[in-house]
Order: sequence, then C-alpha cells, then structure tokens
Amino acid sequence: MIDRKEFMRRSGHALGLAALTAATARILAKPSDDAEFIAQNRRFAWQIDPERCTSCGLCETTCIRKPSAVKALNDPKKCSNCVVCYGHITDSKIDSDKIDTEGERVCPVDAVVRKNFSGGIDGLFLYSNNSKLCVGCGKCTKRCNEHGSKSMFLVIRPDLCLGCNECTIANACPENAIERIPRESVDDYRGDYLFDSLDRFDFYDMEEGA
Ligand code: SF4
Ligand code: SF4
Ligand code: SF4
Repeated sequence: MIDRKEFMRRSGHALGLAALTAATARILAKPSDDAEFIAQNRRFAWQIDPERCTSCGLCETTCIRKPSAVKALNDPKKCSNCVVCYGHITDSKIDSDKIDTEGERVCPVDAVVRKNFSGGIDGLFLYSNNSKLCVGCGKCTKRCNEHGSKSMFLVIRPDLCLGCNECTIANACPENAIERIPRESVDDYRGDYLFDSLDRFDFYDMEEGA
C-alpha cells in the first residue's frame, strides 16, 4: 500500500520510461484505486437510515462480508423492558415463567439476550443483541418495529464494514435506506453509533463476556 505522494512519484517516473508497457500501467493503476478507497474510507461511512429500513432481510444476505457487517442493536432509552419482548419470543401470550425455558425464539441464532433487571418473573427486563452471534437478518428489529416500542434497529458496524466503494446492500436495498455519511461526529443516532462508538457497543452488548 502506498500513499498518494509516493504514488505520484512512481507514476511520474514510470511515465518517463519509453518502454512502459500496458501491463505495467495496469499494475500501477491498482495503488491509485487503493489510495482512493482509503481516502473515502476515512471520510465517509455507509449507514442505515432506521426511518426507511423495513428489516427486509437483504442486509444479511447481500453484504459482501459473511456474516454481514450489519448488526441489530436495542436502544435502552426506547425499550419498554417488557416481560415478553416481541423481538425475543414469538408467542406474546406465553406464561412469564416459561419464557426462558420454552419460549420460541424470534432470532434464528438466539442472539437476543434477556436479563432480569428488577427481580421476579414479572419485573423489568433488559434486552440486548449479541453482536458476536447476530447475522443482521432483521427478524427481531422487524417485530419490535411492527409490534413493540421500535427500540431495536439495524446498524452497519463501522469496525466490521469494509467501506466498499459501492455497498452491495445499498444497491440491493428496496427502501433506499443505506446512505454514505461523513465520518464525523453528528448529533443523532448515526453519530452515537458510528463514531463515539465501540465503547457503546460494548455497553449495548450486555451478554456475559462480551
Ligand atoms: S436492505 Fe434496506 S430495508 Fe432491507 S434490512 Fe437492509 S437497510 Fe433495511
Ligand atoms: S434476529 Fe437477526 S438481526 Fe435480530 S439479533 Fe438475531 S440475527 Fe441479529
Ligand atoms: S460497504 Fe461492503 S462491507 Fe460495508 S455493509 Fe456494505 S457491502 Fe457490507
């Protein structure tokens, strides 16, 4: 990997050579692409607009990373801390004492974590999403947004995203919900989750040993 200055020096030198071949030109062109990629990656990041996202499932399958760089988060400021969480369990009528043992999980990889906050089977519960397991399928976020307090949402994790020049999810998204935003602190959800951020992810990932 070379920086722009070094690339220009090498390019100038190369152009002075009469015997420069087309193959050499192609080789020299590659660092230029790389340098451009790095510059964009520093200044911009891909992120999801939660107002547009419908949790359609394409974030899991169209990201070039496997598993996807997209993960679910639960905002504790919005969560109602329900006994039965729509993003956690499919049957909202289930008895409280059967939730942990018999409740059918919404998440295919059981990444939605439920913790008792106040004691007792009908108290307050904290819900978080284990990002080490989460594959970004959006099943929990869809149910929370359709039936619950809309506190769960999907983000592109900046530490996992490769900053592709063209985000394959952005190209596939039916809601046009993915946009490239400046990599600077902004006073909204995106600034919070993007750039202040990895400590916050640790806070949100409340599972043991995260
Ligand atoms: S592809 Fe678009 S609508 Fe579908 S889950 Fe991703 S951001 Fe949401
Ligand atoms: S349901 Fe899907 S988006 Fe939600 S935590 Fe599980 S894997 Fe992640
Ligand atoms: S930019 Fe690339 S790595 Fe990042 S979310 Fe889009 S496809 Fe995935």
